[in-house]
Amino acid sequence: RGKRAFIAGVADDNGYGWAIAKALAAAGAEILVGTWVPALNIFETSLRRGKFDESRKLPNGSLMDIVKVYPLDAVYDTPDDVPEDVKTNKRYAGSSNWTVKEVAEAVTKDFGSIDILVHSLANGPEVTKPLLETSRRGYLAAISASSYSFVSLLQHFLPIMNPGGASISLTYIASERTIPGYGGGMSSAKAALESDTKVLAFEAGRKGQVRVNTISAGPLGSRAAKAIGFIEKMIDYSYVNAPLQKELLADEVGNAAAFLVSPLASAVTGSVVYVDNGLNTMGLAT
Ligand code: NAD
Repeated sequence: RGKRAFIAGVADDNGYGWAIAKALAAAGAEILVGTWVPALNIFETSLRRGKFDESRKLPNGSLMDIVKVYPLDAVYDTPDDVPEDVKTNKRYAGSSNWTVKEVAEAVTKDFGSIDILVHSLANGPEVTKPLLETSRRGYLAAISASSYSFVSLLQHFLPIMNPGGASISLTYIASERTIPGYGGGMSSAKAALESDTKVLAFEAGRKGQVRVNTISAGPLGSRAAKAIGFIEKMIDYSYVNAPLQKELLADEVGNAAAFLVSPLASAVTGSVVYVDNGLNTMGLAT
């Protein structure tokens, strides 16, 4: 049987989540995605209308099949956690069962088990503010959406992950080196995500024989990155300064993710793997 993957954080065809889905599909995996509730409608409509058909093309010429799209908001674990204004918001009221626990239950009911869990989501409402000007609320929101969301997803999906399974998340070097502009507590959130990768690798390894790694990816002009505001500058900086002077393609991160969740990486867990044209190794701008 082929492997089954649940990929949280796909809402268009530009981001790392989409590229990871494609790499896994090309390797024969069955693809389920979790899409942020407010983005669900446009994503599903675009899929249905064929807007993504060109980018659904796999190397063998077939089109990636997304078997099911689940609405998801990874900042809520159970319906009790959802505040009234969100519950009644019209972008949310049209969907149901989108808290993490409910999505895990729905996947269990629909498919029984998964092999691969991908976390490709982040959000920091104050990302454009320096840390020194970030509110407590903004900081905690960044951690909730970008770090705890992974703890929660693994917590709820681990019971249905087959032994030998693997999970992966996406991080950024701003966790360990100062990147002015990556604010709002997002640098803190990535530091938490990387530390949690080690602890969760231990716990999920012992409990379910599941591996946990994270990819520290170089800059990509995704929708989320464009919202931060300086992504073009980071892409240019990387091009000028990295050991490999080439554009970083989302597919290169997708391929590394496919390796890390495959049996080829069966002894790799708890690691931060850099997929950034080597930029992280430089100590001096060139
Ligand atoms: P993206 O816009 O494709 O992905 C982010 C996704 O998160 C979106 O689909 C968005 O709808 C979703 N999302 C936001 N809040 C959510 C919530 N509460 N519940 C569920 N989904 C939610 O952008 P991307 O840049 O590909 O981001 C994917 C991951 O890659 C993120 O963790 C990001 O930090 C990381 N990353 C990105 C870069 C970059 O330069 N783009 C570099 C390193 C790491």
